[in-house]
Amino acid sequence: MRNKRTFPKRLKLCGRSVRVSRMRLRRVYGDQEPGLIRLDSRLTGRKLLAALLHECIHEIDPDLSERRVEKLDANLSRALSQAGYHRD
Ligand SMILES: [Zn+2]
Repeated sequence: MRNKRTFPKRLKLCGRSVRVSRMRLRRVYGDQEPGLIRLDSRLTGRKLLAALLHECIHEIDPDLSERRVEKLDANLSRALSQAGYHRD
């Protein structure tokens, strides 16, 4: 994963452009509203990957429960991390 200086400002999800904003967040690693994902600027490596996946999953399927989203982000980030798809 790219560092925060080169982190993408937009991602395409389900054919829609989603803005990605990195900033200092309190109490959460990230949050999401339709069309906007916010990620804590202090996150790196696998935590950043997990937070990004988490908020992307919310964007893709807003009806999934928090518990389900957490299960998906934990497992996907572990698998992608094992495959080398992040860097600190
Ligand atoms: Zn969530």
